[in-house]
Amino acid sequence: MSNRVDCVVIGAGVIGLACARVLARVGHEVLILEAADTFGTGISSRSSEVIHAGLYYPADSLRARLCRPGRDALYAWCAERHIPHQRVGKLVVATATAQLPVLDKISRQARDNGVTGLQRLDGAEARALEPALHCVGALLSPDTGIVDSHALMLSLLADAQAAGAVLATHAQVESMECSLDGHVLEVGGTDPMRLHARQVINAAGLGALPLARRMRGFPADLLPIARYARGNYFALQGRSPFTRLIYPVPESAGLGVHLTLDLGGQARFGPDVEWVDAPGYQVDPARAEAFYPAVRRYWPGLPDGALTPAYAGIRPKIHGPDEPAADFMLLGPANHGVPGLVQLFGIESPGLTSCLALADAVRDALG
Ligand SMILES: Cc1cc2nc3c(=O)[nH]c(=O)nc-3n(C[C@H](O)[C@H](O)[C@H](O)COP(=O)(O)OP(=O)(O)OC[C@H]3O[C@@H](n4cnc5c(N)ncnc54)[C@H](O)[C@@H]3O)c2cc1C
Repeated sequence: MSNRVDCVVIGAGVIGLACARVLARVGHEVLILEAADTFGTGISSRSSEVIHAGLYYPADSLRARLCRPGRDALYAWCAERHIPHQRVGKLVVATATAQLPVLDKISRQARDNGVTGLQRLDGAEARALEPALHCVGALLSPDTGIVDSHALMLSLLADAQAAGAVLATHAQVESMECSLDGHVLEVGGTDPMRLHARQVINAAGLGALPLARRMRGFPADLLPIARYARGNYFALQGRSPFTRLIYPVPESAGLGVHLTLDLGGQARFGPDVEWVDAPGYQVDPARAEAFYPAVRRYWPGLPDGALTPAYAGIRPKIHGPDEPAADFMLLGPANHGVPGLVQLFGIESPGLTSCLALADAVRDALG
């Protein structure tokens, strides 16, 4: 391959792959540069794999604007391509009367976000659906689902490749020189090279902000501070008594320790929120101590000793522990003045759900 390419996508997670696909399909020559030895081993491989309905996000935020259309596009994509997924539905539960107004607030927010089909249930109605549940009220979200995220990424990669995109692995982008007539990337890994690209999408997940700080010619004052919040999961030993996802009312930095199901019906709980200085994936078994009381608020029957450490993911936060939740940050030429460059920061949940809609937004931002 020549060392000149029309368009480089940095990062082969669900976001980079969705961007590569959309750009290749509109006729760009696309090279995906991935530091790891294969695609999809970063944030995208350590999520809850939930297709979010779009309930919670402030109405004018990017997360709200991308989640609902992203969800619809994702369901259609999964159905067309036979990607394992299931519209299992979810219950957001109030376990004390003091939480009931929060359900009303979520309902209003969801309506403002264009989410339809939510049903308000009292405790008895919720228990009729999920007999093991304790709650005093709930919201039923029928359009929440689960997806096999690896099969999804594989399908995005296949579609991108069918449109001519190329994936290079072991290809870590070390730094970049931005200029008005294209960008020069220093690529390390097994086959170091200097690459000229007219357009660059920085979709490097946890690596996006550190890399952006190594981009000469980019206004560094626009870059937020990278922070990391680990989300730990514990698996339930034995069969789940629930057939839907169960979420408590949200906490400040996450959605609360919820119950999600995989496509085999196996339940796991999490993620919690553990602010850390650097990414790391070790789950401390002692954290189970906080999971038991959190889960028993909505499932009093959780047996002692039923939780075992499963895995952890790292949220690429761009706000601190005591600050309000940040929106997705998409910086395109209209924001930073550098032609042909889009930077993506803070793409945490609902990034998986929004990947197709976010890729369209990236294409539009490039112009
Ligand atoms: C605990 C947790 C639970 C979540 N649950 C959900 C959920 O249920 N539903 C939902 O919609 N969203 C969820 N999300 C959010 C979703 O998982 C992310 O938004 C999405 O996976 C981010 O994908 P990405 O492509 O941006 O990042 P990644 O998947 O991390 O991809 C980035 C890629 O870039 C590569 N890279 C990094 N630096 C460089 C470099 N310098 N050069 C080349 N390559 C590089 C990495 O190796 C990686 O492969 C969750 C997130 C977390 C952390």
